[in-house]
Amino acid sequence: MYIGGCWQDAAGGARFGVEDPATGRELLQVADGRAEDGLRALEAAASAQDRWARTPPRERGEILRRAFDLVRARQDDFALLMTLEMGKPLAESHAEVIYGAEFLRWFSEESVRIGGRFAVSPEGVNRILVTKRPVGPCLLVTPWNFPLAMATRKIAPAVAAGCTVVLKPANLTPLTTNLLVTVLEEAGLPPGVVNVVQTTRAGEVVEPLLTDPRLRKLSFTGSTPVGRALLRHAASAVLRTSMELGGNAPFIVCQDADLDEAVAGAAAAKLRNMGEACTAANRFIVHTSVAADFSARLGSHMAALVVGPGTSPDTQIGPLIDARSRQKVDDLVQGAVANGAVVVTGGVADQGPGYFYPPTVLTEVPPGADLLRQEIFGPVAPITTYTTDAEAVAMANATEYGLAAYLFTKDLDRGLRMAERLETGMLGLNTGVISNAAAPFGGVKQSGLGREGGAEGLDEYLETQYIGVADPYRKSDT
Ligand code: NAD
Repeated sequence: MYIGGCWQDAAGGARFGVEDPATGRELLQVADGRAEDGLRALEAAASAQDRWARTPPRERGEILRRAFDLVRARQDDFALLMTLEMGKPLAESHAEVIYGAEFLRWFSEESVRIGGRFAVSPEGVNRILVTKRPVGPCLLVTPWNFPLAMATRKIAPAVAAGCTVVLKPANLTPLTTNLLVTVLEEAGLPPGVVNVVQTTRAGEVVEPLLTDPRLRKLSFTGSTPVGRALLRHAASAVLRTSMELGGNAPFIVCQDADLDEAVAGAAAAKLRNMGEACTAANRFIVHTSVAADFSARLGSHMAALVVGPGTSPDTQIGPLIDARSRQKVDDLVQGAVANGAVVVTGGVADQGPGYFYPPTVLTEVPPGADLLRQEIFGPVAPITTYTTDAEAVAMANATEYGLAAYLFTKDLDRGLRMAERLETGMLGLNTGVISNAAAPFGGVKQSGLGREGGAEGLDEYLETQYIGVADPYRKSDT
């Protein structure tokens, strides 16, 4: 663990193993934090807060900018580490290093754009002075699927805004976070600004922090059920929260779509990270007139992909994160097939070693199948059909989630008309890739609260303060 600028063992010396999902073998052991370690990390963050808030924004930004350069310089190390602990193919890990590093660069630039305003009150008497201040010590909780990007998407805006943080990474992927911390230290980040506690006892470490008066904010990325539980705890201290939760993205292919582009977009939106992405296309909603063609083309694309360990240069689809995830994906597929879905390709779980699942396309998926209601988090594309635009929109919106959606049409009017009726925080219009450090990432409905990235990402770590200033003319004759 990294607390107050020092690498430390956990209280009691407990450790846990980090596994390679391509082999099921342990890579190494790391400290297994306890509740008291979390509290020590918060103490370190709280002690560093005042000084960090007063550090000039340019200086904060320059540290982040140096960290960006260092992450890029160590791209190979980050990529290999991510592939080893998380499973994604090396090429995708390299893409994540570029994406994840961009948050460091973007917020290094945003750190010097923290504005305020000055106005005359409508009555002409007082003056209105509005300033933005750092929220204060933050707890950042991240998932395993993008070990670098989910950390930089929170650390960079928090640090840019002048906040100190305690980061709790997912216990499945703590190694990338630890490498990131060494880079931040090398970039000149003072002790206590970023602290990291990894643990297998997430609830035990996180819950006491949420009611500790020193903590001012929780930023969580993970599943909706865990997010809901953390919101309940945060409510007792009226803690400020940002929640990036699960998704169930619809991917709509209209009758007038360019099918080559739609298939390429579908593959990108479905298969990035083996389907283990909150933005992954989860339900394909395809116009009846093009459904057979689209299904056949997507099926042959997915059948040709090379499945294997992420470290092998030919691999296009790596393993899922663990045995439980593979079982869940297989249960969803077998449940749909038992109720009438037709397998175009895939559909049979690999038995290991490693947690591989073949790219799978299913058609005639019955409405109401669990496969259409839950986040699949695997390389499985269930295809359903529609006949009118209104029906497609209704099908897309029939979920409690609202993170990402995708829409393919050559008719821009239709695209915008449907976009305005889709209940989603983000939409890919004729594209299957939407994540960008400069864009506001986040969901509506039960996909979350707040936005990460873009100018909006910085606001999540700033408080607004209003100072009413007495009328400067009140005692003056001039
Ligand atoms: P998860 O909810 O199981 O875990 C997320 C984090 O919360 C981990 O660090 C975990 O250790 C911690 N956690 C788990 N139980 C906890 C508890 N009781 N108290 C405190 N912390 C706890 O999610 P995951 O399996 O790591 O990640 C996959 C999920 O994350 C998917 O639902 C995915 O959609 C979502 N996700 C969302 C976004 C987004 O930006 N909206 C991005 C990536 C992933």
